[in-house]
Amino acid sequence: MRLFKRLGIDLGTANSVVYVAGQGIVLNEPTVVAVAVADRTVVAVGNEAKEMLGRTPGNIIATRPMRDGVIADYVVTEAMLKYFIRKAMGKFYLWKPEVMICVPAGCTQVERRAVMDAALQAGARKVFLIEEPLAAAVGAGLPIGEAGGNMIVDIGGGAAEAAVISLGGVVVHNSARIGGNKLDEAIAGHIKKHHNLIIGDQTAEWVKIKIGDALGYQSSVIGSRLQVSRLSVNQSKTDELKTDKLESENGKLKTDNQTLEVKGRDAINGLPRTVTVSPKDVTEAIRPRLLQIISTIKSVLEQVPPELSSDIIDRGIVMTGGTSLLKNFPKLVTQETGVPAYVAEDAILCVAKGTGIALENFENYKRAITSR
Ligand code: ADP
Ligand code: MG
Repeated sequence: MRLFKRLGIDLGTANSVVYVAGQGIVLNEPTVVAVAVADRTVVAVGNEAKEMLGRTPGNIIATRPMRDGVIADYVVTEAMLKYFIRKAMGKFYLWKPEVMICVPAGCTQVERRAVMDAALQAGARKVFLIEEPLAAAVGAGLPIGEAGGNMIVDIGGGAAEAAVISLGGVVVHNSARIGGNKLDEAIAGHIKKHHNLIIGDQTAEWVKIKIGDALGYQSSVIGSRLQVSRLSVNQSKTDELKTDKLESENGKLKTDNQTLEVKGRDAINGLPRTVTVSPKDVTEAIRPRLLQIISTIKSVLEQVPPELSSDIIDRGIVMTGGTSLLKNFPKLVTQETGVPAYVAEDAILCVAKGTGIALENFENYKRAITSR
């Protein structure tokens, strides 16, 4: 028996998830850190810090230390990792844990080293890295060790990464720095342009999750808002409570269950105002971004060796990450690529689960793991 614990960490741009080998997922919090401006000490991490985003007093700033899947602020990332490791380990522990962290397939040696160093500094005894598409595929239950092509597309908050995997390795991959955050920005931009209303990032995200639709006017409008019930399947109880809270802060779902009343600040006179936003508005706003993500998927399909292409047509494209939960997104991917696309079960947790499973079955995945 090992004396020390082993942790698998998905350090996402939007959310960080920790898996303890033999136990499963123990922590899932926003990748947000609140820092005091004066001495750069960490004031809050995770859920608590996210609450502060956009509403901090002048002496505290809430930041997202990961950008496009890699570390953007090293010092803050290290502090955040320390907090996550402590929280996952419990109050008192004698032995430092072994930690496996996933990194984007396209990240540089320097970026990999930064992740390793940050984890070692944060209290890991040993650090292993695994490529994110592999972790996502393992977490989605794909048979990655076989000689056959499996295509995985992970779309998170900051980036979209598409990869084809065969014999336990990434054969082709491509990524775009476009994820859920860019969709939120597009929604806020659209509302500003068409309604002269300025809304915050969290409100824009809330609009996207409530009424966002990749197909919009192309799909049947009737019943499209029943989506809300699907949402709650993917979220825990606390998330539902949070959503309710957001609802009272940002606006509300109108009784027709299709449109949203969104609260913001008038761009001209600066006063608070409410406008009505429809799913069609949202589709119009996010569509160019979705098509950019799909062109990344297409470029991977174009580079796949012919033998693997036929496997992919048979098996389809598996989508993971929070943004793959956008309503009708897989349908749009299927429409644009001609290859059937599906969302994996527990799409948001696949990468963390895969990282944990790779830790638990280390021998099988050795080839895919780098260590220090
Ligand atoms: P990351 O790996 O970058 O941390 P995640 O995989 O956790 O990202 O996904 C977070 C993104 O998914 C956020 O942009 C969030 O708004 C988005 N998201 C979560 N649920 C939904 C949903 N039901 N519909 C659309 N987007 C969603
Ligand atoms: Mg992710």
